[in-house]
Amino acid sequence: MGDKTTGGLDRFRLIAAFLVVAIHTSPLSSYSVEADFFLTRILARLAVPFFFLVTGRFVLAEYLAENKASFTPILRYLKKILILYGISILLYLPIGVYAGHYNELTPFSFLRMLLFDGTFYHLWYFPALIIGILLLSSLRRFCSLRAVSVVCGLLYFIALLGDSYWGIASRIPAVSNAYESLFQCFSYTRNGLLMAPIFLLLGVRLRNIKPDSISKCVAGFLITFALMTAEGFLLRHYGVQRHDSMYLLLPVCSVFLYVLLLNWRCNPSGRLRTLSGWIYILHPAVIILVRGIAKTTNTVWLLIENSMAHYLTVCVMTLLLSWLLCTILARYRRAPFEKNRAWIELDYQALKHNILVLQSLLPEGCDLMPVLKANAYGHGAVQIARALKRMGIDAFCVACISEGIELRRKGIRGEILILGYTHPEQMALLRRYRLTQTVIDFDYAVKLNQCGKKLSVHLGIDTGMHRLGERAEHLERLCEILELPNLVVKGAFTHLCAVDQEDLKSQSFTRKQAQVFYSTLDALRARGYRLPKVHLLSSYGALNYPEFAGDYARVGIALYGVKSAEKDYDRFHVDLHPVLSLKARIASVRELCTGESAGYDFSFTADHPARIATLTIGYADGYPRILSRGNGCVLIHGRRAPVAGLICMDQMMVDITDIPDVHEGDIAVLIGTSEGKTIFAYEVAERAGTITNEILSRLGARINRVWT
Ligand SMILES: *Cc1c(COP(=O)(O)O)cnc(C)c1O
Repeated sequence: MGDKTTGGLDRFRLIAAFLVVAIHTSPLSSYSVEADFFLTRILARLAVPFFFLVTGRFVLAEYLAENKASFTPILRYLKKILILYGISILLYLPIGVYAGHYNELTPFSFLRMLLFDGTFYHLWYFPALIIGILLLSSLRRFCSLRAVSVVCGLLYFIALLGDSYWGIASRIPAVSNAYESLFQCFSYTRNGLLMAPIFLLLGVRLRNIKPDSISKCVAGFLITFALMTAEGFLLRHYGVQRHDSMYLLLPVCSVFLYVLLLNWRCNPSGRLRTLSGWIYILHPAVIILVRGIAKTTNTVWLLIENSMAHYLTVCVMTLLLSWLLCTILARYRRAPFEKNRAWIELDYQALKHNILVLQSLLPEGCDLMPVLKANAYGHGAVQIARALKRMGIDAFCVACISEGIELRRKGIRGEILILGYTHPEQMALLRRYRLTQTVIDFDYAVKLNQCGKKLSVHLGIDTGMHRLGERAEHLERLCEILELPNLVVKGAFTHLCAVDQEDLKSQSFTRKQAQVFYSTLDALRARGYRLPKVHLLSSYGALNYPEFAGDYARVGIALYGVKSAEKDYDRFHVDLHPVLSLKARIASVRELCTGESAGYDFSFTADHPARIATLTIGYADGYPRILSRGNGCVLIHGRRAPVAGLICMDQMMVDITDIPDVHEGDIAVLIGTSEGKTIFAYEVAERAGTITNEILSRLGARINRVWT
């Protein structure tokens, strides 16, 4: 995420964490009770809602706002929170035992502790987060976002009455009785059921908000915060509060704070996010530690009795401890530097854009079934599949069984259709990995059937390409296939083979293919066979003949943001964004005197003093060797450097005589943009005498794939 609007949020997390520490140490209590109330019971009450809000924004927003988004990222987040909660429980277990928290433990009180109150005072936050998230995502399955908002508002109202407005609720006997039973289940209404939902939801609702003018944000925040302060002091004055963690104005004030923070332009920092989390978890332990230190060193008068000194000591020690822990953990889990040699950068937004563009071309009811064969055309099948899942896509195509198995092993669910041949010996694997096999022709169907167990298949129908599929004319055979007891036919498809050309012959051939396909399906249906999903469009099919749609479009190359060749027929002139860039490091820069050569076979000889750079990529990585001897170019600092001599297996040289200030470690762009200049995959393909599909799909396994 290079989004500068989120950097301020990350920084404020740290401040929020220290505000939470203030709640638990009361830094101003030595000086003024009022000032301390203001700091810890009003100002610091912004901290936890802020944490909920950003979680809503970054974890829940997509799922709640877009009705097809996948739940998997939320599940992954919940798992992380559960682990943190588990670690925290273990960490505070000995302290809790020592303090006697578990003395009168019944199963019910244990559950209440685990789900609502937390096993140590600050740990209520984790179950609250989990319950809030689960509550919102399950509500969203049944009702609109608006309805969910109303529910959250109501829950917060109930929470308020049991918290800062208890004095009012407690006067009405019926209400008061209802709350007494609630308080059997939890000590405070400040929990995942009543308080967390509204703030999580606000985060979701704020997902599209842009930083507004800073003066408006400051004014909005100051006014609402002043009102909240007044609210707090009034409630305190009249002794209405049972607990003081929520105010009527807290949600409004949090919204203004959030928008204000979007104006704080700086780079996002994952490090600060982790750090603030550990500060939250560790500070109560440090409070105990500081007490111990004060007693043993006879500094109670300073470290405990002076509230400010106490607070600062706890803050500094917690910060140091958390920082140390973060550093150790980071070292322990540091991945190898991905941009060390040659790498592919994947653009998530471009992928999302292409999905939307393709979906908008296709009629309602036709879903995308992205083609992830050949390592997702070189982009990295697992990465692309995971990103697509996040965008709500749940059916994929691959070319062969090993590709399907790899996706399954990496946790990709949904339908995976193998478009090509699977050897009968491997049919058991089709079942084990729940893969769907294409029926290649009648004889193959019989073999599939002989394996004796039920297999999911899509029926391939040949309408003129004559590659795979049973011939459309063989209606009887198609029926026989559909009668085979072990084949569970989940769909039928054909492949169009002339959709990328505009000439009349291609157009009429394509119409014929589609017509043959649909009339064959009609004939099969007329005989009572069910074919749940039918599909025929590939990328060019979707681009040029969306009217033939069907239930799925098997899009490949267009999904990745390019056509096969720039000049190809593209009826609607859609704007696709390339997903992939290919980059490599410069390993060495050296000068050549006139007459010296570089590389194998004297393939580059300097006819004047020259400078060359050696790149860490070669033909084994998929950069075509035919681009040797100046046929290909790369971009360095936004300028073109022609390939010098013969491309080697793992390295290649480029001529940088005309490019100043090139150094070891600099980046060369082989496909993509460098300082405003771009080399498109089209150019590389054309110079290599092929199509982008071949260039991209041959990019090697040795290249790392990273999201930008
Ligand atoms: C490869 C393939 C596709 C995808 O083709 P693109 O032109 O890349 O969209 C679709 N269907 C079948 C059967 C394929 O083999």
